[in-house]
This record gives sequence, structure tokens and C-alpha cells, in this order.
Amino acid sequence: MEVQLTAPNGKTWTQPLGLFINNEFVPSSNGQKITTINPTTEEEICSVYAATAEDVDKAVAAARKAFKDPSWRKLSGTERGALLNKLADLIEQHQELIATIETLDNGKPYSAALNEDLADVISVFRYYAGFADKNFGQVIDAGPDKFAYTVKEPIGVCGQIIPWNYPMDMAAWKLGPALCCGNTVVLKLAEQTPLSMLYTAQLIKEAGFPPGVVNIINGHGREAGAALVQHPDVDKIAFTGSTATGKEVMKMAAGTMKNVTLETGGKSPLIIFDDADLDLAVKWSHIGIMSNQGQICTATSRILVHEKIYDQFLTKFKAQVQSISVLGDPFEPSTFQGPQVTKAQYERVLSYIRSGQEEGATIALGGEPAPQKGKGFFVAPTVFTNVKPHMKIFREEIFGPCVAVVAFSTEEEAIQLANDTTYGLGSAIFTRDLVRAHRVAREIEAGMVWINSSNDSDFRIPFGGVKQSGIGRELGEPALASYCNIKAIHVNMAT
Ligand code: ADP
Repeated sequence: MEVQLTAPNGKTWTQPLGLFINNEFVPSSNGQKITTINPTTEEEICSVYAATAEDVDKAVAAARKAFKDPSWRKLSGTERGALLNKLADLIEQHQELIATIETLDNGKPYSAALNEDLADVISVFRYYAGFADKNFGQVIDAGPDKFAYTVKEPIGVCGQIIPWNYPMDMAAWKLGPALCCGNTVVLKLAEQTPLSMLYTAQLIKEAGFPPGVVNIINGHGREAGAALVQHPDVDKIAFTGSTATGKEVMKMAAGTMKNVTLETGGKSPLIIFDDADLDLAVKWSHIGIMSNQGQICTATSRILVHEKIYDQFLTKFKAQVQSISVLGDPFEPSTFQGPQVTKAQYERVLSYIRSGQEEGATIALGGEPAPQKGKGFFVAPTVFTNVKPHMKIFREEIFGPCVAVVAFSTEEEAIQLANDTTYGLGSAIFTRDLVRAHRVAREIEAGMVWINSSNDSDFRIPFGGVKQSGIGRELGEPALASYCNIKAIHVNMAT
């Protein structure tokens, strides 16, 4: 049920391999496992048990039992907050090891795993710990003959399905508000990156959460994920992943009319007007697409630049990519870009690069595999020019270090190009004109707008999309609405 592992940075630990149900690690019912691969070396790390539909039944039963159990149900918000704070403290104590596990399994640079992902995870749990006793109903004045009030109740058993790009953050964004509101959870990890959250499962037990409140399973999407989404005893599904899978999830959840929140894909625009601080725009254009190997749903993958500054921007942007996007071993402090997460993703990104070439775009930079010492799923950071809006590289989410740069001539055209997408997740605007910044922010069809930055995610601020980028919001206070039912109580005062 566990294995001793050592990472290239010398850290060693005992890695749990089981399904975490009722605060214990157990094998899958038929013994099936999924082997997880180190994307930097292409070597196997270990094999982790993968849930069957029968295991999903067990996890859901554990969550249902815990939901009814007084050890959880009767806790006050303050007590739930204390558990979440304890969990945050434990994760903080183990953050270097968890970041190490993440880098090994996912390929992201260790510095990013530690200073960005883990820092955010700890903040998210503390933020929702604080909300646990501050999320209450209202008294509604309905005249002297009626006393009416609302209470916020947990929804029940929540199925949560997360992707591989930010395994720890995606878990925290979902667990934080769900537990804050008093729900119980079955969390299905992405089969490509299960190790960090399985390690963290031990800390959930150590923090004192009663058995069954948080159950964490690894498993295939079509098997364990689909079983969770269709399970009649699951009340809610929160999903983060691709738009195609999100649509499947929504259809399957309809069977028992589950409450759903979906956070799916994007093709986010970054608009640079001719009055922008060009160096600032260059800096954030790079961060907005090249961070996390381009594997970010909000990545600003379409850069729209005013024609007057297009050539100047392109020269500076290429120089920025070449100087900052250092590829290499993700444990090396100088590395900015690690490998893509899996061979499948690597091949997918390369196939988009080929499609861009076939459709007539120009590769201004990169455009090829970039193995390090002959190994790993590395792709050179790639900049496309001469991109037309009908091309796949302008329309489809690549989820890799690839960006399309397109010129525009008027504000109207910039907005039209920005909105010419089925997605609506992030967007960025660079201008020094305050009025224009706010005007354009209102015109863009997106859940989030960054003015003079990109991908500025903040645990206090709601995150989510419009159009085919999702339904509902995570983070901030609005996430609580995704995990509560409002019950209205009418008291007849008339005699
Ligand atoms: P990707 O293609 O990048 O892996 P997905 O959207 O398919 O992205 O995966 C995101 C999460 O959804 C993962 O945990 C995956 O296992 C899960 N998943 C995939 N297919 C299904 C499905 N049919 N039903 C439920 N969950 C699924």
C-alpha cells in the first residue's frame, strides 16, 4: 500500500498508493493500478491503485455515512474552521516535500510548485477556515404576520473531479469551500498526477477530520470519474478539466439532476493597445502563456497587438521568451519550463504546431520538441505569427507553450477578435488609458479580466468562466454559494 521514494533533490518519503476511504488507504477492489511516469525522465515512478465503480460506491457510502454522523454534522462552523486551519498548518509544515512530489509527478519547476502552488493551497484553506463561521442566512422582513429566515445548509456528498495541471490547487479550491460549508467529499484525482494529494490525505486524517468526510481516489476518468458523476447518492459534482469532458459530465449528472459547477477550457485573449507600457506587456504576455508549460486553462494564448507597435512588440517578446523560458530539469533553480505532463499531451501540443504550419501560420520561434539530455516531454516555447482567425491554433485550446500573435487596427476590431471564440475564461488588456481599460473590460466576454497583468489568480477573488468555459465560480466568497443550499423557513405569526 506504500512505497519508499527518493527525488532528485535528495528528499525521501513513504508514498501511499491506496484509495483513501474512511481515513484509511485500501487497495482497489480488483487490484488494478495506474503507473505514473516522471515526465522529465520518462521513467516509471510507481503504480497507484485505481478505483473501480465498486470502489466509488464504497467511497460514496463512506461520505454519506460521515455526512449524517454527529462527529461532523454537529460541528459548529468555528470547529470546522479550526480543522481547516490545522490542515493548512500541516500542509505548510510538509510543503517542501509535497512540492517535491509534485515536481516529480507533474514536471513543473520546483520553485513554482513550492512558491506558487503550495503557497496558494495554504492560503485557500486558511481563507475558507475563516469563512466557516461567517456564512449565515438572513432574516427577511415579511410584515408582522410572518417571521421568515433562511439558513445555509451543506449540499451533502460532493463528487469533485480535478485535472493534472495544478493537482494541489485544484484540490484545495474544491475541498476548502466544500468543507467550510459542512459537506463531505469524494475527490477523484487526475490519473496522471495522483501522488501529491495521496500524500496530503494523511494530513487530512492527522488534522482530525472524522473518517469519511474526505475520501480521495485515483482512477480513470471514464471509469471512476463517470461512476462518481452518475452515482445516485452524490448530490453535487464539481469538475475542472477540458470542455469536452465537462459536457459529458453535465450530461451524466443530469440523470439525477445534480448540482454542477464546471471549470473548463479557454482561449484567452491578451490585448495590447498602442499606448501600453510595452515592457510591462511583454513581461506579462510571457508569463500569461509560458508559465506552467502553458498548461493553464486561463493561459492568454492569443496575443492581439495594435498594428502600430506590432513589430516592436514581436521583437521584444521573442527576446523575452528566449531569455526567460529556460528549459531543463524542473529541480534546477534556473529552470522556468519543465516537460509537458505526459507523452499524450506532448504529442497533442506538437500536433497543434503541425496544424499551424499546415494552415499557413509562420513559426516565429520554437515549434519543435526540445528533449533535455535526450529525454522528457519538452516542447520549445512557440510563437506563431501570420495567424488567421479560422486557424485551429487561434480557435482551439492547445494547453502548451504556444501562442498566436495577431495584429489589430481599432479597439472595435480588438474586441471583435477577443470575443471570436466559444470560450470565455480569462482576458487581459494593456493600456495606459484608464477609461479605455474599463470600457474594454466590460465588452469582453470572459469571467475574468486582468488590466495590465495576466493570470493573476487570487484566492480572495472569484474564478470561473462564461460561454463554454464553465458554470459557477470557485475561490472568493462566491465559491460558498456552490456548496450550500439555502433553506427558507416561514413562521406564521398570525393568530
Ligand atoms: P485531460 O484530457 O486533459 O486529461 P479531462 O477533462 O479529460 O482532461 O480530465 C480532467 C479530469 O476529468 C480527470 O480527473 C479525468 O480523469 C476526469 N475525466 C475524464 N473523463 C471523464 C468522464 N467521462 N467522466 C468523469 N470524469 C472524467
